[in-house]
Amino acid sequence: MTQPTKEAVLAALGKVQEPELHKDLVTLNMIRNLEIEGGKVSFTVMLTTPACPLRNQIEAAARQAVLAVPGVETAAVKLDSDVPNDGRMRGLVDMPIRNAIAIGSGKGGVGKSTVSVNVAVALAQSGARVGLLDADIYGPNIPTMLGVTKLPSPNGTKLVPAEAYGIKMISMGLLVKPGQPLIWRGPMLNSAIRQFLGDVEWGELDYLIVDLPPGTGDAALSLAQALPLSGAIIVTLPQMVSLEDAERGLNMFKTLEVPILGVVENMSYLELPDGSRMDIFGTGGGERLANATGTPFLGGIPMDPNVRIGSDSGRPIVVTNPDSPVAQALRGIAQNVAAKVSVAALSKDNALPINIVE
Ligand code: ADP
Repeated sequence: MTQPTKEAVLAALGKVQEPELHKDLVTLNMIRNLEIEGGKVSFTVMLTTPACPLRNQIEAAARQAVLAVPGVETAAVKLDSDVPNDGRMRGLVDMPIRNAIAIGSGKGGVGKSTVSVNVAVALAQSGARVGLLDADIYGPNIPTMLGVTKLPSPNGTKLVPAEAYGIKMISMGLLVKPGQPLIWRGPMLNSAIRQFLGDVEWGELDYLIVDLPPGTGDAALSLAQALPLSGAIIVTLPQMVSLEDAERGLNMFKTLEVPILGVVENMSYLELPDGSRMDIFGTGGGERLANATGTPFLGGIPMDPNVRIGSDSGRPIVVTNPDSPVAQALRGIAQNVAAKVSVAALSKDNALPINIVE
């Protein structure tokens, strides 16, 4: 039998669609290292995020397409990833940050920091380079949630982020002296945010997650002015009062022209030992808010006492109980966010095409 040609294999892969970008793998230049030896074909599919929710589906479709080419006996598919750069970041040479994502909420105590920490760690678990900036000056509890008590010594004038569970983290909580009056913190934060971005040795990051203070305050404004945000996520509880706050938070990002990646509903329900669900804070509000405001619903997170136990002991739930429904929901949200960021980056004219390989 004749050996299949590269052209024939590429033609077959040219019929496989990337389900979210709605273009084929060849047009998107996602096929790399194509090699053919007799009937044995091998290649790499370069995904736009290691946290791609559809990676198995894409891999299977690519393999199937190639195996259908006459003469192909085996197809070895490798998956790799190269996160596209939000093109607007390129001018900011001091910040090798590909995408910055803000996490906000209308009010405190809804689980914004919990979502920030676990989404950041879940992205890192998938293989992405992730930074977490805790800008919630009123409740800077991310160090506790990650078991970090101090920052490493600065490198010259540059702050060095702490590292935990594969992510880099800087928190206002590690810089502000305990007991410092809150009234000083607001103005300090606004000037500190720019410094946090430029004067920190983040290294190259695929995603910088920023945990904002709750409400519609100045921090979001300072942040949006300091760097182009790829998008924002709003965390809310399912009940009505919380939703009104969340809607105000959402409108703030709209005013700042920050794209809304979606709404996350936390503490959606409590799973009882008999497997039934109890709605503590009402039901379905996050989804209603998303629908009413024309924004995507990113998912609901159940209640689980292990979330709080993990938070208090510095161990995120995606690490301690990776198979629990809460951890699965948080991982799903991380994948959803990563996919949305890639789609948004690649649909912008100024985005770096993914075919630029170092
Ligand atoms: P915020 O950042 O919005 O103020 P936190 O993330 O600090 O909120 O969460 C507030 C408290 O609720 C914390 O003690 C946290 O451990 C707990 N918590 C958050 N989400 C959940 C959940 N899904 N199940 C159980 N406890 C949760």
